[in-house]
Amino acid sequence: MLKKEARQITGGLSKPSKMPGPAHNLPAWKCLTGAKLAKVPGSVCAGCYALKGRYRFKNVKDALSRRLQALEDPRWVEAMTVLIQGEKYFRWHDSGDIQSLKHLKNIFTVCKRTPETRHWMPTREAQFLKQLDPAAIPTNLIIRMSSHMIDQGPVKFWPWTSTVTSQAGRTCPAPEQGNECRDCRACWDRSTPNVCYGKH
Ligand code: SF4
Repeated sequence: MLKKEARQITGGLSKPSKMPGPAHNLPAWKCLTGAKLAKVPGSVCAGCYALKGRYRFKNVKDALSRRLQALEDPRWVEAMTVLIQGEKYFRWHDSGDIQSLKHLKNIFTVCKRTPETRHWMPTREAQFLKQLDPAAIPTNLIIRMSSHMIDQGPVKFWPWTSTVTSQAGRTCPAPEQGNECRDCRACWDRSTPNVCYGKH
């Protein structure tokens, strides 16, 4: 499959300026848990960047909706594999989240077919992670379960987590380095159990 066809099937990848590689995004208004959390003051989704600004432009919303519909395309796994092959780092869901167990299993297949790529996926969808054995996920993928509330500690049921603090204790160095990861790869690193971000 050619990259052009793969882009047409999937709706293409995004290129977050902060990250060392491309990403895949989905509409944040379709997050199963996050769309509810966005209405809860003090949650990490209240004030979600992916529900504001340019994400409200019609062309951006249409592109995100196309990527969501593309998840049902039987060629999605092959097309995503074609787009990711050769990348050193990949981030799943710079906006949006896991839609179903089938979606998650398809992501696993993409990870297995791109063994040279390190994949990172943050999620708020505990319902799907609780159906998984962490030892069974592809070794080149790290899934970080995000705590729902600002200043909440890491969850206990999953080995890799992320939290958001309004106090001291942030471990993500991006704010000191032009809001970029630069050579930090903590989010992709399985030996880092929790990454703590500062509240925006
Ligand atoms: S912890 Fe490191 S890898 Fe993760 S977002 Fe911050 S700078 Fe990037």
